[in-house]
Amino acid sequence: MTESQQEWAAKGIDITVPSIARAYDVVLNGKDNFAVDRAFVDELVKIVPEIYDVATYNREVLRRGVHYMISQGVRQFIDLGSGLPTVQNTHQVAQEVDPEVRVVYVDNDPMVEVHGRAILASSPGTSVVSGDLRDPAAVLASPEITDLIDFTQPVGIMLVGILHHLHDDEDPQGIVDAYMAAVPSGSHLFITSFCASSAEAREAEKQFLAMLGTGRFRTEEEITAWFGGFELAEPGVVPNPLWRPDGPVDEASLTVGQKLMYGGIARKG
Ligand code: SAM
Repeated sequence: MTESQQEWAAKGIDITVPSIARAYDVVLNGKDNFAVDRAFVDELVKIVPEIYDVATYNREVLRRGVHYMISQGVRQFIDLGSGLPTVQNTHQVAQEVDPEVRVVYVDNDPMVEVHGRAILASSPGTSVVSGDLRDPAAVLASPEITDLIDFTQPVGIMLVGILHHLHDDEDPQGIVDAYMAAVPSGSHLFITSFCASSAEAREAEKQFLAMLGTGRFRTEEEITAWFGGFELAEPGVVPNPLWRPDGPVDEASLTVGQKLMYGGIARKG
């Protein structure tokens, strides 16, 4: 192990294999990544040249989705698989509408913990849980959540850009259901996910599996099924750029990259 690898390893960060959070940081043009993460993205670019734009579409729909949920009366969010702090994080997007909004970020990447805590230390109404979202009981019982979230009031449960990292045997549906069971009527569920919408998507999925060790892109129907019986807001589950866009988007001319991730928001009645 090199000296630099040892230094990072002491913080629980392995720089010899790509991490989901750091690879996402690469495509968002962040600085918190290593050569191994950039090598993974280089491989993805060969399959989907627009992969950097795909990350941007996802961040843009995150902003629109958070604003929508606020318009529906949600004032507290649990952002599961939140990623490394970047520009326009959930609390910034939300608090520009209402400074009283509270946000708990949940992620299991040690790099997110280091950076998240540093940034959020100065941000009122936010906290970070370093935990595994696949264990809803433990996440929901963590003091950062029980201190900040009022479970008698609507909560926005966000699983944005994460469920394609869970394999079927990890029971993503059971995980979604467990979070939604913990929140009251008027709460919302916000999901975006990579979608097996093209031959390129299937190739990208193989690359995820080979280099990140996770990757199961679902069909539009499978993504829709995660919302169960909840009431989907218009326009339903659609490619990210088509979900309540700020301006007109020509559906007929969507590119492979624009259709790589699908998303939607539903309300618990
Ligand atoms: N939600 C953000 C967005 O869409 O802009 C970030 C998405 S990023 C692609 C996925 C994040 O999920 C990464 O930061 C990764 O560390 C985190 N993650 C992956 N598996 C996780 C798990 N089991 N528990 C908690 N976080 C996880």
